[in-house]
Amino acid sequence: MPKYVFAPPAPPAVPVAGGDLLPVRRIFCVGRNYAEHAREMGHDPHAEPPFFFAKPADALVTGGADTPYPPATSDLHHEIELVAALGGGGTDIAPEQALDLVWFYAAGIDLTRRDLQAAAKKAAKPWDMAKGFDHSAIVGEFRPVAEGGHPAKGRIALRVNGELRQQGDVAEMIWSLPQIIAALSRLVTLAPGDLIFTGTPAGVSAIVRGDLVEGEIDGVGSVRTRIV
Ligand code: MN
Repeated sequence: MPKYVFAPPAPPAVPVAGGDLLPVRRIFCVGRNYAEHAREMGHDPHAEPPFFFAKPADALVTGGADTPYPPATSDLHHEIELVAALGGGGTDIAPEQALDLVWFYAAGIDLTRRDLQAAAKKAAKPWDMAKGFDHSAIVGEFRPVAEGGHPAKGRIALRVNGELRQQGDVAEMIWSLPQIIAALSRLVTLAPGDLIFTGTPAGVSAIVRGDLVEGEIDGVGSVRTRIV
């Protein structure tokens, strides 16, 4: 009987309202999914199908913990996002069935080393080190899908040290969550424990050590962290 050559790491998990833990399998993210943000990044918001990148599951920061300022950047940006957690999975999922897979939602922050991302874009190189670094996926408490249903609208906003930086409405997404899940499921087999960051509204900006970053989504929840 083979044994592990060293103890396996603890499986990534995020807290769910009520005290349980949701095991996390993978973290997928959608790029440029709000028109104003696409424009602020220099792109035509309606010119492309949804595209995806990923973060390692062990990049999660939960429970309001501090976030260490990452190395190799001088332009760390916040992106407040609606995060969906899957309790089911599959391949080639129809948009009409997609929301049946979503069990929980949370507010999250997709931290981005914008300078590395700009360099990667310019050189047509991958975004992994701009997006998938340690402590780059900050999430608040996950809540089960409310009686009222899935959050198709609701104010989404982010403050830094109390100052409003990002504001929008999840109804402004270019690609809806059902469309995102359908598209992603044609690329990978989705599975329980997969998280999907659904894109950010306009107003992304740089944060530095000492900043308190607080996000909220009406009807979904909040997320906060201090950069240290
Ligand atoms: Mn993002």
